Amino acid sequence: MGKKKIGKFVYPQTGTQVEKIEQAFKLLGLENCGSSFEFLAQKIQEEGKTILDFQEELLKGEVQYQEDKRLNRWIQQAKLPQLKTIDGHEDTRFNFAAQPVIKPAQIRELASCRFIEQGKNVILLGPTGVGKTHLALALGFEAIQQAYEVKNVQLNEFINLFHSASISSSETSKKRLFRSLAAPKLLILDDIDYYTPSEEAGEFLFDVLMQRYKDQLSILVTSNKNPKDWNLFGTPERSRAILDRIFDHSRAIIINIMDGRSYRVPQPLEQAISNPEPIRESSKLRSLISSASKSMTR
Ligand code: ADP
Ligand code: MG
Repeated sequence: MGKKKIGKFVYPQTGTQVEKIEQAFKLLGLENCGSSFEFLAQKIQEEGKTILDFQEELLKGEVQYQEDKRLNRWIQQAKLPQLKTIDGHEDTRFNFAAQPVIKPAQIRELASCRFIEQGKNVILLGPTGVGKTHLALALGFEAIQQAYEVKNVQLNEFINLFHSASISSSETSKKRLFRSLAAPKLLILDDIDYYTPSEEAGEFLFDVLMQRYKDQLSILVTSNKNPKDWNLFGTPERSRAILDRIFDHSRAIIINIMDGRSYRVPQPLEQAISNPEPIRESSKLRSLISSASKSMTR
């Protein structure tokens, strides 16, 4: 088979009229129009609507389809491992009632992505299970919806990426890694203090963050330690430089969830244990225990 010829547009010559229209839509990259126009034409006719209604419906469908494709592509590029949201579907949304130390208004303000426009940084601090990663991923998704380029990386992933780039000994792979971390409008660094990078990796990360500081690009960091105890950038001087510049008061929005409760242990079970009143419905207890054990294996 020869290479598919690109660059020349010719109206399809073979097949029925419907087949030719379908092929023409595909040739023009209007995939959704191609697969929906026939059904839609019939529907519009049955409903007694006009040709303009037909065109509008057809284009709306295509725009939505292309936008869904963009979202998927950007989510993959950003390396968001799961879909988490602030509001929306109950399977993905953040349950504010379960974490009263978090102010919904503050999170919804962040979801507006004004902090990205202003080049501000967000630090989510708190012990494990309080929803730091959830909020980070949800804000990443909000940013993607608003067409900001996002990159999400856990510190251990960064360390691995840095070492693979170093082993390949080619400057281009390090440059590529640098660009992939320095260029996006929002960089999410998750669990920043779980691992200690090597001296070189720490210096590289320092350079990335300094570049982002110069370009006024936002960072969202999650950590379970106070930033002054971070030991990431090789030397205490570099750590201080980062804290002074990037996380100074005018540029940093700190969300303190240090006193939050872990979402991994469902609240009702804790209450059930400390509550002398027996839970009478055994099926309710069973479901509490099974959801608790599921969350512990997570
Ligand atoms: P952390 O990063 O603080 O350790 P995660 O964000 O990973 O915690 O939360 C652990 C799990 O609990 C995730 O599946 C997350 O989606 C869920 N979770 C945590 N807090 C909430 C919440 N308030 N509402 C809904 N789900 C939550
Ligand atoms: Mg986490």
